[in-house]
Amino acid sequence: MSRYTHLLTVMLVLCCCHQGFAQTAELYHYQDLSHIFYQKQVDSIKKAWICPAIYKEKATQKQYKEYWDDRTDFLTKAIKDDDYLYEQDVYKYLDSLINQIVQANKQLIPAKPLVLIDRSSSVNAYAIGGNTLAINLGLLTFSRSREDLALTIAHELSHNILLHAENAMKQRAEWITSDAYKTSMNAVLDSKYERLTRLKKIFEGYSFSRSRHQRYHESDADSLAIILLKKSGIHFDPTFFLRLDSADLQYKQPLKQPLATYFAAYNITIDNAWTQKRSKGLSTKVYNFKDTTSHIQDSLKTHPECVERYNKNLAARDAAANYTPIPAAIRSKAMKMQLWNMYMNMNLTACMYSIMLEKDNGTTDPWYDFMVANVISGLYYADRDLSRFNAVGVTPKEFISRDYYELQTMFEQIPREKLEELSNSFLTAHTASNSKKDEAAFHRLMKSLTTDADISQTSKTNIGNTFIRGNENSLYAEFAHKFDKP
Ligand SMILES: [Zn+2]
Repeated sequence: MSRYTHLLTVMLVLCCCHQGFAQTAELYHYQDLSHIFYQKQVDSIKKAWICPAIYKEKATQKQYKEYWDDRTDFLTKAIKDDDYLYEQDVYKYLDSLINQIVQANKQLIPAKPLVLIDRSSSVNAYAIGGNTLAINLGLLTFSRSREDLALTIAHELSHNILLHAENAMKQRAEWITSDAYKTSMNAVLDSKYERLTRLKKIFEGYSFSRSRHQRYHESDADSLAIILLKKSGIHFDPTFFLRLDSADLQYKQPLKQPLATYFAAYNITIDNAWTQKRSKGLSTKVYNFKDTTSHIQDSLKTHPECVERYNKNLAARDAAANYTPIPAAIRSKAMKMQLWNMYMNMNLTACMYSIMLEKDNGTTDPWYDFMVANVISGLYYADRDLSRFNAVGVTPKEFISRDYYELQTMFEQIPREKLEELSNSFLTAHTASNSKKDEAAFHRLMKSLTTDADISQTSKTNIGNTFIRGNENSLYAEFAHKFDKP
């Protein structure tokens, strides 16, 4: 009998595990965050990244080692801070693309690089030398094709091949320990007047030559990237340079419907007073929002170097180019991971606006509704925590559309008791219809956080632990771990 009960328990546990796995398999597991997934990598990086002895001059070598170690610290800290994560499908997709480039260019890239997925939404990738490369989720969701993505990756690989990071560290170390630098610094210290101005001149001169160097570096990396791509049989389209020009204007894209319509879908009526700025000064009515949907004309002024890069490399364009769209499943995962990261950073207006843009793209995935409830209850939680202003994350008008401005204003101005009401109704409505175990548990967590009278750290830790028990593999456990005792 007892054996039978035991068997039942085991079966139930197995069922739960299976169910849990099926659910979290959609995105990733808590254990895929870099502080856990790359834990061993941190030790091997520290062991492998030993500064080579290249200078006889002790001071220069010491300075060089300092920069070298700073770089190691930057990477290991980013890993510990969960700036990166490992998600199987997105990783495999990137890995196959990088492999294609590496295999075709073995002489230039003898060893496979360490590839990290950075959770940032900014449209970027970066090479830090040491055969290491990070690709932001923002780049994945912004790129339209595998070829667009390949261009940026090849550009970053080129920085590594050309040792740009290592050379920059050398140049800095050499300059700061040079006689010329010492002489000019002494001259500043000896002078009675205008020390600051003189000091500034020294540094301006240095950063000017550095930015000139950097421009050469960028241009060299582009040229080599095109060679890497051609050898790999990946088509090159320079119009991506022009699109990159509009990368930081994503929140200038207007919504397809009025703001109220998105909330009406949840039976919520928005009071116009919430979206109209009450304070004096430059009001929405006076300000002329220029909404952009990545029109090249509008963005020409933003980054002249993008146009320059386009013109410079136009001749290398593949005439009958073939472009492979990024698979919808990969893009969708990248977008969700990016949105969750925005939420973790309590960057709530940007998170909500991105959800609305995804709705405009036609998504009917209920995960986005789960997130809408999180944003609203998160905002109320922040209000109770006296950090609503931070959670709104005010973005200046010149970078956003009128719709974004209205949403931001609403998040700032919606009265606390209305916000409480919305938070409660979202959490109740969604939890009731939610079939996913960890999502439902997460809404229970938000409900406790927003309704418990006790808002002490101890209470929050308990609430967090309640979620973690039984959901330790869920990616949402990251939020619950925020309340771990220090
Ligand atoms: Zn670059």
